[in-house]
Amino acid sequence: MRNLRITVHWLLITIFLASCAAPAAPAEKFSVITHPDGPLYVGDQVSFEAVTPAGFKSEGHEVQVSLDEGELGRAGFSPYGVAGRTEAVLWWAWDTRDLQPGPETLTFAILPDGPTWQETVTLHPQSGIPPPEPGARWASVTSDCCILNYITDTAAGRDIASLAQVADEQAADLSVRMDESLSEKIPVVFVPRVLGNGGFTGSAIYVSYLDNDYLGSATAQVLHHEFVHWFDTLAGGDLRPTIFQEGLAVYLSGGHFKPEPLIPRAAALLELDWYIPLGKLADDFYPQQHEIGYLEAAALVSYMVESYGWGAFDAFYRDIRPTPDGRDSQVIDAALQAHFGITFAELEAKYREFLKGQTVTEAVRDDLRLSVLFYDTVRRYQQALDPSAYFMTAWLPDYKVMGQRGIVADFLRHPEGMENRLIEAMLVKADHTLRAGEYNQTEVILKGVNVSLDMLMAGK
Ligand SMILES: [Zn+2]
Repeated sequence: MRNLRITVHWLLITIFLASCAAPAAPAEKFSVITHPDGPLYVGDQVSFEAVTPAGFKSEGHEVQVSLDEGELGRAGFSPYGVAGRTEAVLWWAWDTRDLQPGPETLTFAILPDGPTWQETVTLHPQSGIPPPEPGARWASVTSDCCILNYITDTAAGRDIASLAQVADEQAADLSVRMDESLSEKIPVVFVPRVLGNGGFTGSAIYVSYLDNDYLGSATAQVLHHEFVHWFDTLAGGDLRPTIFQEGLAVYLSGGHFKPEPLIPRAAALLELDWYIPLGKLADDFYPQQHEIGYLEAAALVSYMVESYGWGAFDAFYRDIRPTPDGRDSQVIDAALQAHFGITFAELEAKYREFLKGQTVTEAVRDDLRLSVLFYDTVRRYQQALDPSAYFMTAWLPDYKVMGQRGIVADFLRHPEGMENRLIEAMLVKADHTLRAGEYNQTEVILKGVNVSLDMLMAGK
């Protein structure tokens, strides 16, 4: 009965969403994405991503953006994000503070030989900027481990004292376990919107922190994961293959998005026929199904640490060296032979035998199956309705430059249409039920979200 009510509820939402679908631009043209997301307001500093159509030879080309006769900026094309999408990025090229509300026509030109096209953008009055802007600003606190950057009047601003404590606890744990000490404090940036899978590490650690986060309140887990990457970089190594970088982060964090039994969970991959051959995973890590790849890598690290000891594993991992062939599977194979007298194929055979010997409970299998469905659904939603959050092409401006220029909008604004709010609310619910082990309910909700996304996509 309860399921029937949810289904009917979903049908109504789906019909509504289908009516909201907007036509998409043809794929053979250049497409322009403006930032911050959503409506633009007078005073915004606007960035542009100009994405090339398939097959465009971008070498030697630039995109130029102009308003009236004046050039706002130009930039060349290069691979962007985890996906390596070919695009030109014009960071904060258009300062709109002296303009009046209303339509503005921008001219985009591909130099030197075209095409040229125009796009009209509407600037809304500054008085319409949604809270907590325009009063929000960048601020920071310093803790034992970190410089914690946040935007005032956000959830992170409210909770910054407890966040500092959490960060210190996670960093202290890793400092001991990885035997590394910090010579400089780690820059952490709390972002008040969902980005990718909740965390990114580059020159700083970016962690999503907001109320009603559909990825769950997993801040300690995400910080711990990203801190592993930080300490891992400090510990060094010629070439640290991605399969071990991510495997180590999940292994040392005792789970991916929550604490979880890594070995039984990886054993369930075999039962579900989801196991990815290790050579393929090592050579092409990120394009694989995300949760499966990370889990398999983490359980592999766990198995190796159990078999050889932490010291021997660490020595092997930091001694993997590049070869002319360049493929991670080859260099891993060479290092395995040098350190343990075993090939990668032999290690995989032993690892699979070990997994086959595990007992997999129904709860472990259900949790894994629905975790994969949940995060696949999240990414499907992001690609469809919040593409700046999708991890392969996420919009990740540098917080330092944002601070210097007094910009908070790129992190504060995100799509807030009715369809976004409805689907995010259902994802929040699915995250709660999944974490509570209510698997039947989780499955019903996720099916509803996917049917809605099917309808939306069909309308495009
Ligand atoms: Zn990671």
